[in-house]
Amino acid sequence: MVTVEERYEHLEKTIRGYNISADLGQIRAAYEYARENHGEQMRRDGSPYITHPIQVAQIVAEMRLDSESIIAALLHDCIEDTDSTYEDIAKRFGVTVADIVDGVTKLTRVKYSTMEEEQMENLRKMLFAMSRDIRVILIKIADRLHNMRTMEYQTPAKQKKKSFETMEIYAPIAHRLGLAKIKWELEDLSLKYLDPVAYHDINKKLEADSARHEQFMARIQEEINNRLIELDIPHVTVYGRIKHPYSIYRKMYLQEKTMEELYDLFAFRVLVDTVPDCYNVLGVIHDIYKPILGRFKDYIATPKPNMYQSLHTTVIGEEGIPFEVQIRTYEMHAINEYGIAAHWKYKQGIKKEGNEADYEWIRRLLENQEDADAEDFIHSLKVDMFADEVFVFTPRGDVINLPAGATPIDFAYSIHSAIGNTMVGAKVNGRMVGFDYQLHNGDVVEINTSKAAHGPSRDWMKIAKSSEARSKIRQWFKRERREENIAQGRASFESELKHTGLNMAQITAPDILPSILKRVSFQSLDEMYAAIGYGGLTALKAVNRVRDELLQISRAAAMEKAAREAAERAAQEAKAAQEARQPILPRKVKSEKGIVVEGLSNCLVKFSKCCAPVPGDEIIGFITRGYGVSVHRKDCPNAQPDHHVEANQGRWIKVSWSDDIRDSYTTALEVMCKDRPNLLVDISTAMSTCKVNVNSLSVHTTADGFAIFHLVISVTDSKQLEQVMRKIHQISSVMKVSRPAG
Ligand code: MN
Repeated sequence: MVTVEERYEHLEKTIRGYNISADLGQIRAAYEYARENHGEQMRRDGSPYITHPIQVAQIVAEMRLDSESIIAALLHDCIEDTDSTYEDIAKRFGVTVADIVDGVTKLTRVKYSTMEEEQMENLRKMLFAMSRDIRVILIKIADRLHNMRTMEYQTPAKQKKKSFETMEIYAPIAHRLGLAKIKWELEDLSLKYLDPVAYHDINKKLEADSARHEQFMARIQEEINNRLIELDIPHVTVYGRIKHPYSIYRKMYLQEKTMEELYDLFAFRVLVDTVPDCYNVLGVIHDIYKPILGRFKDYIATPKPNMYQSLHTTVIGEEGIPFEVQIRTYEMHAINEYGIAAHWKYKQGIKKEGNEADYEWIRRLLENQEDADAEDFIHSLKVDMFADEVFVFTPRGDVINLPAGATPIDFAYSIHSAIGNTMVGAKVNGRMVGFDYQLHNGDVVEINTSKAAHGPSRDWMKIAKSSEARSKIRQWFKRERREENIAQGRASFESELKHTGLNMAQITAPDILPSILKRVSFQSLDEMYAAIGYGGLTALKAVNRVRDELLQISRAAAMEKAAREAAERAAQEAKAAQEARQPILPRKVKSEKGIVVEGLSNCLVKFSKCCAPVPGDEIIGFITRGYGVSVHRKDCPNAQPDHHVEANQGRWIKVSWSDDIRDSYTTALEVMCKDRPNLLVDISTAMSTCKVNVNSLSVHTTADGFAIFHLVISVTDSKQLEQVMRKIHQISSVMKVSRPAG
């Protein structure tokens, strides 16, 4: 039986081993203070309670943390389990220590009642967010590790629950902090209670073969050792290790392999002084044993996100048994084993105590680093990832993630809009709070609802921090206050309309209203008023759209009227000519851009981009709404009669080329070819032979060796265009020349 005092002395010895300037006086004072306060309390295994804080401090010392961490570890259960207070600890041991103890206490009070997978990452984040000081979470992990080591005295139900939490929350956090050894132990201890059969199976196998394993490892170790001494590579330590049970379990389970098939059941570590020595040793290992292809990993050149650095290689010895060799420097080893906390220790030497600033960047660095690459790494140094988030609990224990500064309103709406809409009060940690109360990490929030609730007030929109809550409140006003919204929206629409000089009668005319509603995208004017009323659309925007539509309608009407009158005139003249038995002479009409629009003069004309007609093409015109006549080729897919929408009936109009064409016309060609060198030169030559101007040219090559040229050219008429197309078609490897349309 080890006495309490002996345990404490062992702790002191560990501390002196890495920190010669440790404040052993204060550490002893903390030990005595905790021992006194815990008094007669007992652990479930029958030992005095004080053994627990001493063992937690021992783990913290093995992480090589500073004096304040050791003191806080010794005091970590005082606020929670004894009469001691924050103020008392602050007075005796300083505010920093009191804050750390307080932080650990808060983490201890967090109750995890959920077991849902997607909640776990939120829980881990919440623990980080709550630990303003990284030492809080390190001590909490040490606390959990010691509790897991002594878990056998707990009830089976508690064993399972704590093991699950440890596996899902604390082991991943230990991993992120780079605490490899602690992570393994947490996982192994959890496995022991979560899958006892497999755990004992693996251990039994490992034990049964242990003599054989030991022999094998001792021989390999000696071989490596001898060769390195021979080659005079300094400060080399070699030792073997067997993979820990949980990693064997995971690999067997995931890869469906037997223990014998696992490559890295055996592993050796070679520790050297310098990085060049790492690569020297790698060469030596590959010289003695046959490396397995694809199993070499250089984590020195590319460290893992948690700063792990090492060379890994798997090789096969004479007996055909594969084993892994890990090669690293002493410094890398310290960081890999003891976590990033050891990093600054190593860098700064053991004389200097760490302070909060040293930890701050580590905390940021570690958060959410899984799979991050080097650049994200640097980036995360500058961004506090959880500063703009807050994590709170539902009464059921689910974690809800809200923006920082969130209130009970945000919480209620994030659960369900019905909860928000019927909310009449809120409780945080059992106490009634106002709707504008700012939630803190770890708060348990409860919302009181009532069927008789009036619904949200417009002020809530200003109090809510999340856009989700605000949009749900807006939704409510949209739905629940329709009459009010319509009246309010109508008033502001009409007053805005007045400024433009328009009136309601112009809008509500039966032949006008449908296209107005289409333009503003509402089923009825009331819908539009309602939208204006709840703030989904501004009155000004609505009026602008209505005015634009009215303008276009009147332009189109004028155009249609002119076209009709011209057609009537033509018909009358034809009739008169027939009556006079005179030959019908074509009316002289002025052309616009070489286009004669039947019966219309001075008509705006544009050539459609989709088919780009040139003189000689058969063409047809379309009276657009307000932008003149657009001219298509008759074979253009956009000008096919079956595509005519009913609303467009009567807009298609006959057009023809005038006799006095002098312009050149822009059109497009598409050339498909098997790609080959000099193709571009040949196509350009064909163009200049035909005296055609090329306005633009682009090439698209496909993966299977085809090239598609898109040419925009200017020609005088379709004859010249056909000539160009023939010329291009004659070029070798050209497969198809076409005029794109549609
Ligand atoms: Mn504890």
